Amino acid sequence: MTKDIATPSRTKEILSKYGFSFKKSLGQNFLIDTNILHNIVDFAELSEQSCAIEIGPGIGALTEQLAKRAKKVVAFEIDQRLLPILEDTLSPYPNVKVIHQDVLKADVSQVIKDEFGENQDIMVVANLPYYVTTPILMKLLEEGLPLRGIVVMLQKEVADRMAAGPNTKDYGSLSIAVQYYTEAKTVMTVPKTVFVPQPNVDSAVIRLTRRSQPPVQVEDEDFFFEVVRSSFAQRRKTILNNLSNNLSKKLPKEQILLALEEADVAPERRGESLSIQEFGKLSEALYRASQ
Ligand code: SAM
Repeated sequence: MTKDIATPSRTKEILSKYGFSFKKSLGQNFLIDTNILHNIVDFAELSEQSCAIEIGPGIGALTEQLAKRAKKVVAFEIDQRLLPILEDTLSPYPNVKVIHQDVLKADVSQVIKDEFGENQDIMVVANLPYYVTTPILMKLLEEGLPLRGIVVMLQKEVADRMAAGPNTKDYGSLSIAVQYYTEAKTVMTVPKTVFVPQPNVDSAVIRLTRRSQPPVQVEDEDFFFEVVRSSFAQRRKTILNNLSNNLSKKLPKEQILLALEEADVAPERRGESLSIQEFGKLSEALYRASQ
C-alpha cells in the first residue's frame, strides 16, 4: 500500500521526483505529520455527505485526508507547478477537484453552486498560506457563503487575535470582525517541526463556526465596522478621542458624547474594554446621530 502523502519519506520522494522548490512568497510550508492532519480533519467533523473546500493543497497532504472522509473536495491552488504533482498524488481520489486559481480572485459562491449544489454541508479546511491569512478568511466570511464553518491552520498570533475577548492585549477589530460572523476557538497549537520548510512563526488551528445570526443587529454593517476600527485606532486613547479623530462621517464631540451616554459607555473607556454587544449599541446610537 502507498504511504500517506504527508509522511516525511513520501513527501521527500514526491518533491525530489518533480524537482520542486518551495516559494516562500506563496507561503509554502507543507505538513509532514499525519497525526496533525487527522486532528485537523477531526475538528471539521465531516461526514460522508460533507463537502470540503481547501485553499492551497500543496502536494495534497491535507487534500488526501479530506478525500478519505468527505463526499467531495474542491481545492484552490495558485501555483501552476503543483498541478501535475497533484494530478499524480491525488489520482486515487476521484472525489477531488483542483482549481488553478488565486482564491482571492475566485467566485467561490459560483464554484459552490457548480461543484456541490444547494443545501450541502460545507466546511473550509486548510493549512493557509500565512502571507494572506486575514484577507482569505475575511473574504470567506464577508461573502455570506453557505458554510457550516472553517477549520484552518494559521499563525498562532493571528489565531489569538481572532479568538480574543475584551480586556486582553489580543482583542481588536479583527476579533470583532471574525466574531461577528462566527464563534471562534483556537483548538490546537502546532510546533514548527511538522512543516517543511519550517515557518518562522508558531502555528495554531482555529475553528470558526458560522453563526445563524450576528450577535448584534445593526442598521449599517459598514458603519458598525468603521466604528469598531476607529475605536481601536490608537489603543492608548479613550474611545471618545478615537471616535472624534477617526470617524469619516465627522460628528461633533458633543454628539459623540451623547451617543456614548445613550449606549451606556463611559467616554474615558478604551476600545479594548467594549464587548461586541456594546459596540453594537454604540454604533446604532452614532448612526442615528449621523443621519
Ligand atoms: N495544504 C498543503 C499542506 O498542508 O501541506 C500546503 C499548505 S501551504 C501552507 C499553502 C499553499 O497555498 C501552497 O500550496 C501555496 O502555493 C498555496 N497558495 C498560496 N497563495 C494562494 C492563493 N492566493 N490562492 C490559492 N492558493 C494559494
